[in-house]
Amino acid sequence: MILAIANQKGGVGKTTTAINLGAALALRGHRTLLIDLDPQANSTMSYVDPAAVTRSLFDALTDPTCSISDIVIPTTVERLSITPSRIGLAKLEGKLVGEMDAHFRLKDKLAAVTKNHDIIVIDCPPALGLLTVNALVAATHLLIPIQSSYFALEGTDDLLETVEKVRSRANPGLEIMGVLITMHDKRTSLARDIRGQIQKVFGSKVFNTIITKSVRLEESPAYKESIFTFAPDSSGATEYYSLSEEVMDRA
Ligand code: ATP
Ligand code: MG
Repeated sequence: MILAIANQKGGVGKTTTAINLGAALALRGHRTLLIDLDPQANSTMSYVDPAAVTRSLFDALTDPTCSISDIVIPTTVERLSITPSRIGLAKLEGKLVGEMDAHFRLKDKLAAVTKNHDIIVIDCPPALGLLTVNALVAATHLLIPIQSSYFALEGTDDLLETVEKVRSRANPGLEIMGVLITMHDKRTSLARDIRGQIQKVFGSKVFNTIITKSVRLEESPAYKESIFTFAPDSSGATEYYSLSEEVMDRA
Protein backbone atom coordinates (compact mmCIF):
# COMPACT_ATOMS: atom_id res chain seq x y z
CA MET A 1 0.00 0.00 0.00
CA ILE A 2 1.19 3.49 -0.88
CA LEU A 3 -0.89 5.98 1.07
CA ALA A 4 -0.77 9.67 0.15
CA ILE A 5 -1.90 12.11 2.82
CA ALA A 6 -3.05 15.19 0.97
CA ASN A 7 -5.12 18.34 1.26
CA GLN A 8 -3.89 21.55 -0.35
CA LYS A 9 -5.20 23.48 2.60
CA GLY A 10 -2.43 24.38 5.02
CA GLY A 11 -2.29 23.30 8.64
CA VAL A 12 -5.05 20.68 8.58
CA GLY A 13 -3.04 17.88 10.21
CA LYS A 14 -1.35 16.18 7.24
CA THR A 15 2.06 15.99 8.89
CA THR A 16 0.73 15.10 12.35
CA THR A 17 -1.21 12.27 10.71
CA ALA A 18 1.70 11.10 8.54
CA ILE A 19 4.18 10.89 11.43
CA ASN A 20 1.83 9.27 13.93
CA LEU A 21 -0.10 6.98 11.60
CA GLY A 22 3.29 5.91 10.19
CA ALA A 23 4.45 5.14 13.73
CA ALA A 24 1.22 3.25 14.54
CA LEU A 25 1.58 1.08 11.43
CA ALA A 26 5.21 0.36 12.36
CA LEU A 27 4.11 -0.57 15.91
CA ARG A 28 1.67 -3.02 14.38
CA GLY A 29 4.66 -4.74 12.77
CA HIS A 30 4.61 -3.28 9.27
CA ARG A 31 7.88 -2.10 7.74
CA THR A 32 6.83 1.47 7.06
CA LEU A 33 8.51 4.18 4.98
CA LEU A 34 7.53 7.81 5.46
CA ILE A 35 8.13 9.99 2.41
CA ASP A 36 8.47 13.67 3.28
CA LEU A 37 7.34 15.35 0.07
CA ASP A 38 6.98 18.81 1.61
CA PRO A 39 9.80 21.37 1.20
CA GLN A 40 8.87 22.63 4.70
CA ALA A 41 10.34 19.32 5.91
CA ASN A 42 8.11 19.11 8.98
CA SER A 43 7.92 15.30 8.97
CA THR A 44 11.70 15.15 8.66
CA MET A 45 12.19 17.54 11.57
CA SER A 46 9.74 15.50 13.66
CA TYR A 47 12.12 12.54 13.66
CA VAL A 48 15.63 13.58 12.65
CA ASP A 49 18.04 16.44 13.06
CA PRO A 50 17.94 18.31 9.74
CA ALA A 51 21.67 19.02 10.06
CA ALA A 52 22.29 15.28 9.78
CA VAL A 53 20.59 15.10 6.39
CA THR A 54 23.15 15.01 3.61
CA ARG A 55 21.02 13.89 0.69
CA SER A 56 17.29 14.46 0.47
CA LEU A 57 14.33 13.51 -1.67
CA PHE A 58 15.28 16.28 -4.07
CA ASP A 59 18.45 14.35 -4.95
CA ALA A 60 16.54 11.08 -5.36
CA LEU A 61 14.01 12.71 -7.67
CA THR A 62 16.48 14.62 -9.84
CA ASP A 63 19.78 12.72 -9.84
CA PRO A 64 19.66 9.51 -11.91
CA THR A 65 22.51 8.03 -9.82
CA CYS A 66 20.68 8.60 -6.51
CA SER A 67 17.96 6.12 -5.54
CA ILE A 68 15.38 6.28 -2.76
CA SER A 69 17.29 3.62 -0.80
CA ASP A 70 20.36 5.90 -0.80
CA ILE A 71 18.50 8.53 1.21
CA VAL A 72 16.36 6.40 3.57
CA ILE A 73 17.25 6.97 7.22
CA PRO A 74 15.89 5.33 10.38
CA THR A 75 13.64 7.21 12.83
CA THR A 76 13.32 6.86 16.60
CA VAL A 77 10.50 4.38 15.92
CA GLU A 78 11.39 0.76 15.20
CA ARG A 79 10.46 -0.34 11.64
CA LEU A 80 9.71 3.27 10.63
CA SER A 81 12.16 4.94 8.27
CA ILE A 82 11.97 8.22 6.40
CA THR A 83 13.17 9.85 3.20
CA PRO A 84 14.05 13.35 4.36
CA SER A 85 13.06 16.58 2.67
CA ARG A 86 14.78 19.93 2.52
CA ILE A 87 13.65 23.37 1.46
CA GLY A 88 15.47 22.79 -1.86
CA LEU A 89 12.65 20.42 -2.84
CA ALA A 90 10.67 23.55 -3.70
CA LYS A 91 12.91 23.87 -6.76
CA LEU A 92 11.72 20.56 -8.15
CA GLU A 93 8.94 22.10 -10.18
CA GLY A 94 11.33 24.40 -12.05
CA LYS A 95 13.82 21.60 -12.53
CA LEU A 96 11.31 19.18 -14.05
CA VAL A 97 9.40 21.61 -16.24
CA GLY A 98 9.24 20.21 -19.76
CA GLU A 99 10.46 16.75 -18.72
CA MET A 100 8.27 13.98 -20.15
CA ASP A 101 8.20 12.05 -16.87
CA ALA A 102 7.75 15.03 -14.51
CA HIS A 103 4.59 13.56 -12.94
CA PHE A 104 6.00 10.04 -12.70
CA ARG A 105 9.34 10.68 -10.98
CA LEU A 106 8.23 9.55 -7.52
CA LYS A 107 6.34 6.52 -8.80
CA ASP A 108 9.31 5.37 -10.88
CA LYS A 109 11.80 5.90 -8.06
CA LEU A 110 9.58 4.14 -5.49
CA ALA A 111 9.29 1.03 -7.67
CA ALA A 112 12.81 -0.02 -6.61
CA VAL A 113 12.06 0.07 -2.87
CA THR A 114 8.51 -1.29 -2.56
CA LYS A 115 9.88 -4.77 -1.77
CA ASN A 116 11.70 -3.42 1.30
CA HIS A 117 8.62 -1.81 2.84
CA ASP A 118 5.11 -3.08 3.53
CA ILE A 119 3.57 0.38 3.65
CA ILE A 120 4.65 3.73 2.25
CA VAL A 121 3.07 6.89 3.69
CA ILE A 122 3.52 10.17 1.78
CA ASP A 123 3.23 13.53 3.56
CA CYS A 124 2.23 16.08 0.89
CA PRO A 125 2.79 19.85 0.85
CA PRO A 126 -0.15 22.28 1.11
CA ALA A 127 -0.55 22.80 -2.64
CA LEU A 128 -1.92 20.98 -5.66
CA GLY A 129 1.28 21.39 -7.66
CA LEU A 130 3.73 18.94 -9.16
CA LEU A 131 4.78 17.44 -5.82
CA THR A 132 1.25 16.49 -4.75
CA VAL A 133 0.48 15.22 -8.25
CA ASN A 134 3.60 13.02 -8.05
CA ALA A 135 2.21 11.58 -4.80
CA LEU A 136 -1.23 10.93 -6.31
CA VAL A 137 0.33 9.25 -9.36
CA ALA A 138 2.45 7.00 -7.15
CA ALA A 139 -0.22 6.20 -4.54
CA THR A 140 -2.62 3.29 -4.31
CA HIS A 141 -4.73 5.12 -1.71
CA LEU A 142 -5.46 8.66 -0.56
CA LEU A 143 -6.25 9.85 2.95
CA ILE A 144 -7.67 13.38 3.21
CA PRO A 145 -7.34 15.07 6.60
CA ILE A 146 -9.98 17.76 7.14
CA GLN A 147 -9.68 20.13 10.04
CA SER A 148 -12.79 20.46 12.11
CA SER A 149 -13.27 24.19 11.49
CA TYR A 150 -15.78 26.55 9.93
CA PHE A 151 -13.98 26.47 6.56
CA ALA A 152 -13.41 22.72 6.70
CA LEU A 153 -14.76 21.81 3.28
CA GLU A 154 -13.32 24.77 1.40
CA GLY A 155 -11.06 23.56 -1.39
CA THR A 156 -12.01 19.89 -1.26
CA ASP A 157 -13.69 20.24 -4.70
CA ASP A 158 -10.35 21.25 -6.22
CA LEU A 159 -8.65 18.32 -4.56
CA LEU A 160 -11.27 15.87 -5.84
CA GLU A 161 -10.97 17.37 -9.33
CA THR A 162 -7.22 16.79 -9.25
CA VAL A 163 -7.80 13.21 -8.09
CA GLU A 164 -10.14 12.68 -11.08
CA LYS A 165 -7.56 14.08 -13.51
CA VAL A 166 -4.84 11.86 -12.08
CA ARG A 167 -7.16 8.85 -12.28
CA SER A 168 -8.10 9.42 -15.89
CA ARG A 169 -4.61 10.19 -17.14
CA ALA A 170 -2.15 8.32 -14.99
CA ASN A 171 -3.43 6.24 -12.10
CA PRO A 172 -6.92 4.71 -12.61
CA GLY A 173 -6.53 2.56 -9.50
CA LEU A 174 -6.15 5.49 -7.10
CA GLU A 175 -8.69 5.00 -4.33
CA ILE A 176 -9.90 7.56 -1.80
CA MET A 177 -9.46 5.49 1.33
CA GLY A 178 -11.02 7.98 3.66
CA VAL A 179 -11.52 11.40 5.12
CA LEU A 180 -10.10 12.03 8.57
CA ILE A 181 -11.57 14.70 10.82
CA THR A 182 -8.73 16.34 12.76
CA MET A 183 -8.37 18.83 15.61
CA HIS A 184 -11.93 18.16 16.67
CA ASP A 185 -13.27 19.77 19.82
CA LYS A 186 -16.04 17.51 21.12
CA ARG A 187 -17.33 20.17 23.49
CA THR A 188 -18.54 22.69 20.93
CA SER A 189 -21.76 22.52 18.96
CA LEU A 190 -19.98 24.15 16.01
CA ALA A 191 -17.63 21.15 15.86
CA ARG A 192 -20.63 18.78 15.91
CA ASP A 193 -22.24 20.75 13.04
CA ILE A 194 -19.04 20.60 11.03
CA ARG A 195 -18.73 16.88 11.62
CA GLY A 196 -22.29 16.49 10.34
CA GLN A 197 -21.50 18.53 7.22
CA ILE A 198 -18.38 16.51 6.45
CA GLN A 199 -20.34 13.28 6.89
CA LYS A 200 -23.08 14.57 4.60
CA VAL A 201 -20.56 15.21 1.82
CA PHE A 202 -18.30 12.17 2.24
CA GLY A 203 -20.67 9.60 3.80
CA SER A 204 -19.04 6.29 4.66
CA LYS A 205 -15.67 7.59 3.46
CA VAL A 206 -15.32 9.44 6.77
CA PHE A 207 -13.22 7.39 9.19
CA ASN A 208 -15.00 6.42 12.41
CA THR A 209 -11.88 7.53 14.24
CA ILE A 210 -11.82 11.26 14.85
CA ILE A 211 -8.65 13.03 15.97
CA THR A 212 -9.46 15.39 18.80
CA LYS A 213 -7.46 18.47 19.76
CA SER A 214 -4.51 17.55 21.91
CA VAL A 215 -1.54 19.57 23.07
CA ARG A 216 0.46 16.33 23.28
CA LEU A 217 0.24 15.90 19.51
CA GLU A 218 1.68 19.39 19.06
CA GLU A 219 4.51 18.75 21.49
CA SER A 220 5.85 15.35 20.45
CA PRO A 221 7.75 16.50 17.29
CA ALA A 222 9.90 18.83 19.41
CA TYR A 223 11.19 15.73 21.22
CA LYS A 224 11.69 13.75 17.98
CA GLU A 225 9.24 11.15 19.24
CA SER A 226 5.96 9.72 18.03
CA ILE A 227 2.91 10.17 20.24
CA PHE A 228 3.24 6.50 21.26
CA THR A 229 6.40 7.00 23.31
CA PHE A 230 5.92 10.70 24.10
CA ALA A 231 2.42 10.36 25.59
CA PRO A 232 1.23 6.76 25.27
CA ASP A 233 -1.84 7.37 27.45
CA SER A 234 -3.00 10.47 25.58
CA SER A 235 -6.09 10.70 23.40
CA GLY A 236 -3.82 11.28 20.39
CA ALA A 237 -2.08 7.93 20.91
CA THR A 238 -5.38 6.06 21.27
CA GLU A 239 -6.91 7.78 18.25
CA TYR A 240 -3.97 7.35 15.88
CA TYR A 241 -3.67 3.68 16.89
CA SER A 242 -7.35 3.19 16.20
CA LEU A 243 -6.95 4.98 12.85
CA SER A 244 -4.18 2.54 11.90
CA GLU A 245 -6.61 -0.33 12.46
CA GLU A 246 -9.21 1.27 10.20
CA VAL A 247 -6.56 1.97 7.57
CA MET A 248 -5.52 -1.71 7.54
CA ASP A 249 -9.16 -2.79 7.34
CA ARG A 250 -9.78 -0.53 4.36
CA ALA A 251 -6.51 -1.31 2.54
P1 ATP B 1 1.03 22.15 6.30
O1 ATP B 1 -0.09 22.33 5.34
O2 ATP B 1 1.72 23.41 6.68
O3 ATP B 1 1.98 21.06 5.89
P2 ATP B 1 -0.27 20.19 7.93
O4 ATP B 1 -1.53 19.98 7.18
O5 ATP B 1 0.82 19.20 7.75
O6 ATP B 1 0.32 21.65 7.66
P3 ATP B 1 0.17 19.89 10.75
O7 ATP B 1 1.54 20.46 10.65
O8 ATP B 1 0.06 18.45 11.02
O9 ATP B 1 -0.67 20.29 9.46
O10 ATP B 1 -0.68 20.65 11.86
C1 ATP B 1 -0.75 22.07 11.91
C2 ATP B 1 -0.56 22.51 13.36
O11 ATP B 1 -1.61 21.99 14.16
C3 ATP B 1 0.72 22.00 13.98
O12 ATP B 1 1.22 22.96 14.87
C4 ATP B 1 0.28 20.76 14.73
O13 ATP B 1 1.11 20.47 15.84
C5 ATP B 1 -1.10 21.15 15.17
N1 ATP B 1 -1.98 19.97 15.29
C6 ATP B 1 -2.20 19.00 14.38
N2 ATP B 1 -3.09 18.11 14.82
C7 ATP B 1 -3.45 18.51 16.06
C8 ATP B 1 -4.36 18.02 17.06
N3 ATP B 1 -5.08 16.92 16.88
N4 ATP B 1 -4.47 18.72 18.22
C9 ATP B 1 -3.77 19.85 18.43
N5 ATP B 1 -2.91 20.36 17.53
C10 ATP B 1 -2.75 19.71 16.36
MG1 MG C 1 2.67 19.43 6.82
